Amino acid sequence: MDVQQIRRDIHQHPELGFTEFRTASIVVEKLQSFGFDVMYGKDVMDESACRGMPPKYEIEEAYHVALNEQADAEIIKHMEGGFTGVIGKMSGNKQGSTVAFRFDMDALPIIEAEDEGHVPFREDFHSLHKGKMHACGHDGHTAIGLKLAETLKDEDFAGTLLLIFQPAEEGGRGASSIAANGVLDNIDKLYCMHLGLDAPQGEVWCGTDGWLATTKINSTFHGVSSHAGVAPEKGKNALVGAATALLNIHALPRYSDGKTRVNVGALNGGTATNIIPDKATMVIETRSDKAEINEDLEDRVKNIVEHSAKMHDLDYEIEIVGEGTTIQCDESLINTAFEEAEELNLFSSVKRMGRATGSEDASILIKRVQEYGGEGTYMLIGTDLPAPHHHPAFDINEKSLHDAVKLLNRIATKELIDK
Ligand SMILES: [Zn+2]
Ligand SMILES: [Zn+2]
Repeated sequence: MDVQQIRRDIHQHPELGFTEFRTASIVVEKLQSFGFDVMYGKDVMDESACRGMPPKYEIEEAYHVALNEQADAEIIKHMEGGFTGVIGKMSGNKQGSTVAFRFDMDALPIIEAEDEGHVPFREDFHSLHKGKMHACGHDGHTAIGLKLAETLKDEDFAGTLLLIFQPAEEGGRGASSIAANGVLDNIDKLYCMHLGLDAPQGEVWCGTDGWLATTKINSTFHGVSSHAGVAPEKGKNALVGAATALLNIHALPRYSDGKTRVNVGALNGGTATNIIPDKATMVIETRSDKAEINEDLEDRVKNIVEHSAKMHDLDYEIEIVGEGTTIQCDESLINTAFEEAEELNLFSSVKRMGRATGSEDASILIKRVQEYGGEGTYMLIGTDLPAPHHHPAFDINEKSLHDAVKLLNRIATKELIDK
């Protein structure tokens, strides 16, 4: 199996969060063919903890697209409704630790660049689905995970290897459902990774800090519509309630003991000049480098939404549609990754730690593992980026795929075989 070819195939067939039916179908088939025990669908995901599920019709549409594009009907039947998580498990004959690696699979709602300067276009593996694109490298992550599985399939472990293929990382939506399911609770060591981000080609960061805890909130304001000329006083203006909330959310204070971010990313409501708007929706996010501060910000945002609604006599709903927390990487995993990366002699620079920016929902998985006595780390494997993540011209240097497989293989070998 060629890691580059798998990556290109997945790149061509991008699927948004919770609709990775074709991708997950390939993952299940490959893992099974390598001799892994494979669990998927609701066996690895807790429905009540899925954040920000897309509307039903979008999930169903994607399901049918996947069926038309060689997804296995028997397999994806067990993923119906958006339960696209997959975990492959292989246990050795000897006792040992349970070591896990996590990969994310989702694409983004972006129209991919179509010009000769963009390698996926020039080499004819750009998105077949206009408006969906692997613009973060998760196609590469999935390919790395599958190739890693192949390299380890005939090994006799002391312990258990788990390969976690997670849906819906973008927006911090998929990890919570896997954490809440409890399938991670016996993991001793969890290695997570991303290609690129702040790490240049040839560089590896064995641990990262600086990840921001985040909460993504949808709020809806419900009022009463009325004729704006004839009887404005009979209406209850949902848009005014939402606008009040927006200004007050942006008026929240900074914090003296941590970094913070708040943003209202969208506000929609109303239909025409002469109608009092009866509905408004708003998407909001909070972030902080301290989990407690993010929680405090989240509480304050909810408070503002509630009281802005009350001010204008509106009903309201608040839904958490995404989340992530901070990451504290464990020394022993950083050390193992560092030693193996150094010995590989493949990377021009191996850093023990680096400072990340942004948020990542693997944080939820790492936190869960740590709460149950295990350890975790989040690594970056550098790659050339012709354009930033989430950009229409985003791409990776495919050499980093091979390097990543070699590094993760060495870590797995060290953890599970070199006893
Ligand atoms: Zn991303
Ligand atoms: Zn990403």
